[in-house]
Amino acid sequence: TVLFHLGEMATATESLDEATFEILGEELGYKIEIVSPEDEDRELLEAFDIDLEGEEAAETEENLEPRPPVVTVMGHVDHGKTRLLDAIRRANVQGGEAGGITQHIGAYQVWGEHEGVNRAITFLDTPGHEAFTAMRARGAVVTDVAILVVAADDGIMPQTIEALNHAKAAGVPIVVAVNKIDAEGANPDKVRAQLTEYELIAEEYGGDTMFVNVSAKTGEGVRDVIDAVLLTADAELELTANPNKLARGTAIEAKLDKGRGSVATVLIQAGTLRVGDSIVAGTAYGRVRAMLDENGEHVEEALPSRPVQVQGLSSVPRAGDTFLVTEDDRTARQIAEKREAAERNAQLAKARKRMSLEDFTRALEEGKVQSLNLILKGDVSGAVEALEDSLLKIEVDESVQLRIIHRAVGAISESDVNLATIDNAVIIGFNVRPDQKARAAASKEGVDIRYYSVIYNAIEDIEKSLKGMLEPEY
Ligand code: GDP
Repeated sequence: TVLFHLGEMATATESLDEATFEILGEELGYKIEIVSPEDEDRELLEAFDIDLEGEEAAETEENLEPRPPVVTVMGHVDHGKTRLLDAIRRANVQGGEAGGITQHIGAYQVWGEHEGVNRAITFLDTPGHEAFTAMRARGAVVTDVAILVVAADDGIMPQTIEALNHAKAAGVPIVVAVNKIDAEGANPDKVRAQLTEYELIAEEYGGDTMFVNVSAKTGEGVRDVIDAVLLTADAELELTANPNKLARGTAIEAKLDKGRGSVATVLIQAGTLRVGDSIVAGTAYGRVRAMLDENGEHVEEALPSRPVQVQGLSSVPRAGDTFLVTEDDRTARQIAEKREAAERNAQLAKARKRMSLEDFTRALEEGKVQSLNLILKGDVSGAVEALEDSLLKIEVDESVQLRIIHRAVGAISESDVNLATIDNAVIIGFNVRPDQKARAAASKEGVDIRYYSVIYNAIEDIEKSLKGMLEPEY
């Protein structure tokens, strides 16, 4: 009712934005606290005496040691991201090294001499901003520097701009690799000129972004790309971590392997991960049975910014899940189980959502339903009848049917909601609202209740829905 008076025509199954909730709280005399999944997880960990943020804030300079930058390669399709990642990797494989078949584990480290110092860089080798964005959507930003690949014979393209905006939104500094300089029609200067429009201004143009001409095909300039990444990291970032504590970080890739079970590549972001550690990653837990690097070699321990493939987890974590090492197996298992229970509840609530008018439109398009069931409630009988008459006059395709399974005068009751639940119906309230019990049941069962005070509006919505034209509201 309050929302209605505020001019917000929302039903029990719709999502509202945070600002609306806060206003609603104020109107009702409550203070609303918005709890995000991250907040919830933080509280969960605190219950186990784990306070990651507090720990990080307590790091002093003497605890911190430099760590390698973590780099993602982004850019338009076919501009050479994959080939550049291969070229970088090859440029650094020390010839004739023992063992090691290179494997794709989702990330690799290269070592190279830079200004007389031998330094490492970690590359995430799932190129593209989709993986980056998916991880970011889960709250994980593991990238320190982004390499934006632009083909010199093609120039900037839609995904170039998308990638650029994603990196910017995450506050990640960018190095531009102007690729395919060997190709016919390559015009690297044009790329520089084009990107000035997006506030990526090359150093040689007086800006502060490093642009490097490169050919992933011939290998020319590959070293310069690596140098540019290190220079940018040094100039813009303070990359340090405390290696002397229990490890934490992020899962970047995982799968189920026939012989080895769950294998997950994790990126260490603080601490040191060791074989034998008790670990929890998202809702997966277990003991680190073995760790492999990108050359398929066993490693006993992994320091910050190191990617390693971990075996021994109970299930497969998702990319972007954070992992942490716990004092003992039991803690890891309990954290995982609590998370799992929370996820299951959220999933159940989603599954409980019944048919809404928008869903009907979608189901209709997919050919899944033929009939829209409605329950009509109104304040006066004349209105209910008028509504029913008009609805039944709507002309629709023969394959679609409108069924009014119940009509009555009065407030929307719990039994209306129960009926709607059983018959997957949408409830139309004309100048009436649900009572307390009905509202609770509707929100629990995910029944769509729509409120109208103008008959025409009700008819219009339902007509659109029947014709498969109702746009989802957000
Ligand atoms: P991605 O979609 O960005 O990962 O692009 P790919 O790495 O798959 O490259 C797309 C195509 O461009 C492939 O045929 C590559 O061989 C080619 N390619 C990549 N880099 C270069 C380059 O530096 N020069 C030339 N001539 N071709 C390249």
